[in-house]
Order: sequence, then C-alpha cells, then structure tokens
Amino acid sequence: MSNAGICVSRRQLIAGVGAAALCGGGCAMLSVSPRGAFREKERDVPLDEWADIIVAGGGPAGVAAAVSAARAGKKVRLFELQGCLGGVWTAGLLSYIFDFNKSEIGWEIIRRLDALGARRIDSGVTYDLDRNWTYEPEYMKFVCEEMCREAGVRTILQCPVVAAYRDASGRNIETIITESKSGRRAWRAKTFIDCTGDGDLAALAGCGFDYGYPGLDYGQPATMNALVAVDDGDAIAEYVSNDPAMWSRVTLPDGSTKSHHIYASHKLKMLLHEQGLDPSYGDPTLFRFHKNVFCFMANHEYRLRVDDAEAISDATMRSRREIVALASALEKLGGPWKGFRVIGTAEQIGHRDARRIHGRYTVTRNDIESGVTFDDVCTVSRFGIDIHGIDKKMNDDKAAGNSGGVKFRPFQIPLRSCIAKDADNLYMAGRNISGDFYAQASYRVTGSSVAIGEAVGKAAAGVFKPVAIVESPTLESCSDGRNS
Ligand SMILES: Cc1cc2nc3c(=O)[nH]c(=O)nc-3n(C[C@H](O)[C@H](O)[C@H](O)COP(=O)(O)OP(=O)(O)OC[C@H]3O[C@@H](n4cnc5c(N)ncnc54)[C@H](O)[C@@H]3O)c2cc1C
Repeated sequence: MSNAGICVSRRQLIAGVGAAALCGGGCAMLSVSPRGAFREKERDVPLDEWADIIVAGGGPAGVAAAVSAARAGKKVRLFELQGCLGGVWTAGLLSYIFDFNKSEIGWEIIRRLDALGARRIDSGVTYDLDRNWTYEPEYMKFVCEEMCREAGVRTILQCPVVAAYRDASGRNIETIITESKSGRRAWRAKTFIDCTGDGDLAALAGCGFDYGYPGLDYGQPATMNALVAVDDGDAIAEYVSNDPAMWSRVTLPDGSTKSHHIYASHKLKMLLHEQGLDPSYGDPTLFRFHKNVFCFMANHEYRLRVDDAEAISDATMRSRREIVALASALEKLGGPWKGFRVIGTAEQIGHRDARRIHGRYTVTRNDIESGVTFDDVCTVSRFGIDIHGIDKKMNDDKAAGNSGGVKFRPFQIPLRSCIAKDADNLYMAGRNISGDFYAQASYRVTGSSVAIGEAVGKAAAGVFKPVAIVESPTLESCSDGRNS
C-alpha cells in the first residue's frame, strides 16, 4: 500500500487535524487515531551546522554508511534512538547473520568480532563459512561503537530524529530536529542518509513510500528476540538450529528429509505443545552463539505497524510475557532443560518490514526473476525471499521461508534505489530503500544492509564506485532453510 493510504485523510483534514501539526511537515506518523490537536508554541532551538553528512539511525546500515563517509574525509554526525549502536543486531538481540561476506566493512566486522572471540561459524553452508554465522550481541555493540569512534563519526545516542524541514526550493532537506535529554535541537548538513530502518527521516520530510504486503496496510510479523542460558548447552543440541555437530539433513520416519533447522524447531514446538503452550511463531528457534547461551526466537506479533507506538508498546510487553512463559515451561521440565533461564530480552521489538521510500529506481520481483544488471550496483542480494506467515494460522502452516511464488536468483541493487525520488539530498540505506515487498523480503538481511550502507556512505561522500560482482559457487534458490 502506498502512503496515500497512510496519510491523514481528507475528512480528517476538514475536521481540523492539520497534517503539519500531526507529522512535522510530512505525513509520517498517523496510525494512531488522533483525538484532537494541540498547537505547540513556536520557539527557537539551538542550531548546529558542523556536519557535512547526517546519518539518521545507527543500525547495520547506519554504522556502515557513517563509517564509510567519515573515512572518505567527511564530517559525519550519527543520531541513534537507542542507547547503543547496532540496531536489530544489538538492541534487537538478533544474534544470527545472513549473507554477510560481501563488503569491505562486512569483512572488517568479521575480523573484529573474531579478534574478540565473539563469532561462531556454523552456517551449514560448507563452501562459504563466513556467509551466515552467530555473534555475541554485547561485542557487536562494542565493535560498532569502536568503528564509528575511530572513523571520527560524532555519534549521539538516545537521540531520535523527530522532524525534518525543507529549504526554499522544496527539493532539499535543510534542517532536522532531534529530541533528547538536551531537549529539541536543530541540525543542518548538505546531505542526509536515512538509515532508521523504518524510513522515519524520509517520511518526516514528506517523501513518498510504500508499506506492507501488496494491497494491505501492514507488513510481515515483528519478533521479540531473547537471550537464554541453560546449564548444559550440549544437552539440548537436537533442539538447536545451528549446532555445527548436528547440521545436516534429517531423515524422518516417513522417509522424507528436512534441514536440521526445521527438524530442531519442530521438535521444540512439539515439546512446548506438550506443555500446553503454543508459541506465536510457527518455527520457534534456538540459535547457539556461546557455550550455554542461545538466542531464542519464538515470538511473532502480527499486523504490527512501524508507526504505531501504542501498539508497539503493547506488543513488546505481550512478547516478554510470552517469552518468560515459554522459558519457564522448559525450565520446569528439568533434565536437559535444567537451568533454562531468560537472561535478556531485546530493548526493541524487531520489525522485518519497513517503509519502502520511493527512490529513483524501485527494485521489483521482475528484476529478481529477469536477472537485470545495473551500471551503479551497490551489492548483490543472495538471501532468498523470506516471507513469514501473515497471521498465526498461516504461520503455523508455513512459518517462514515462503518466496511468494517468486523464482529467486541473486539480484543486483542499484544506487538509484537508495536515492530519494522526492528529495535531492537524501539517500536511504538498509531495509528502507526503494523496492517492492518481494525484493525487500530478501535484501532486508543484515549482510545486504551493511553493503548498501557502505556504498551509500561512499556515494554521499562523492567516492562511490560500482562494486565488482563475485558470484558464489552455488546460487541458492532460497534461504538455506533458515528464516530471518
Ligand atoms: C526478528 C528478526 C529476525 C531477523 N533475522 C535475521 C537474520 O537471522 N539474519 C539477518 O542477517 N537479518 C535478519 N533480520 C533482518 C535484519 O535484522 C534487519 O532488516 C536489519 O537490521 C536492517 O538493518 P537496518 O540498519 O536497515 O535497520 P535496523 O537494524 O532496524 O537499524 C535502524 C536503526 O535506526 C534507529 N532509529 C529508528 N528510528 C530512528 C529515528 N527516528 N531517529 C534515530 N534513529 C532511529 C533504530 O534504533 C536502529 O538502531 C531479522 C529481522 C528481524 C526483525
């Protein structure tokens, strides 16, 4: 659905609900039904014009964009909503990475995590060990922060971008506003990069966007990830998706075979069913990233929109309730589950979908199927299309890994899809670039977000060169049997 359906309706406008009052100049945040309008007093706020480039959002894409632009000699300021860098990697406790070994900054992150002993290579993709792996989220925070600090990026944490204003021509973003413990502040730069995942900056600036499944105004389910620990990690290996010793195809009694991930998550689901619990995610998953510590991905929140703070809050707290209930049931089993405890839940629920900001080019399913090539390629998305069931019933039937009927082959992402159509000095990087629902269901994974961020940071700094394409030995048709 396009933002025409998300913006304030004509009737609401006539009823006196002005778009500017509601969304700071763009129709960005309108899913909560307004119960009136309050006109804030005009006031002066402190203005800072130090930066050449402002990056909004410090997730995988934002860190890569900020670091590559700063390394190219630009003065870069990075604003992040949470109290750490890393986005879904860290505040979202993702712990599992896909399609990663394809960009300079990606390789640097691999090397830095390895130096800290904070990465496990157990993807099951035997020819390409650095492609999918698990990591320890606290070390990822440190790596992201160190890379930004060393590159000279000035980072401000807990400082969301809340408004954007254009110059007199109407074509450029001139000033953005942040809100933090320092109050409201104004910032200017020549170039802006929206790496908020959700496309907040572009939407606040009034850029057009699409959102959600074709024809619907909500996207893929969101998930609250958790960290869990158990007394003996080896004892539960057959329930763990990525245990290297176990990675193989499993033959079932009926003679069919399944990937170990599907087998392990099915076993876990059946065990939870026996305890009278039905996890909201159809493929509850344990990813091991340290001896006795795992990422626990067992929850799905359906029909959740990225712009509905009240619904997100309810979903966040509901998810934590579910995670604690599931973990407590496993702990009560004792035996191999002895000491199974939640040791952390994500600060933010993870949104798979995003506003897909209109760019100078939109990557579509047709591009994926036709194998079109571009002269301004940022990266190649090699992770299969991964659509999660849109409601509990569909999720129980096929939880994830649905390609929507698209015949997948690795596809190129052009820089043009990362340049806003409706603002001349705005780039996007990460899951909010310009693509259709199907393309986004592939390139959203973090390997692509980093590669796109790196390319966009260079473009914003004026040093972009199209990447040389190196194909993997095997072109896989889907997501290696795992879900993102
Ligand atoms: C549950 C789940 C499971 C997934 N599984 C995998 C997987 O196994 N492997 C994989 O590689 N990928 C996976 N993905 C996809 C991947 O994690 C994301 O799509 C990826 O993080 C996108 O990176 P990003 O930088 O675009 O966005 P994000 O990681 O969302 O980062 C955006 C950053 O912007 C900040 N921000 C937001 N709004 C503002 C604002 N207004 N002002 C300032 N800052 C703001 C956020 O706090 C965040 O730090 C998964 C995603 C989810 C949700």
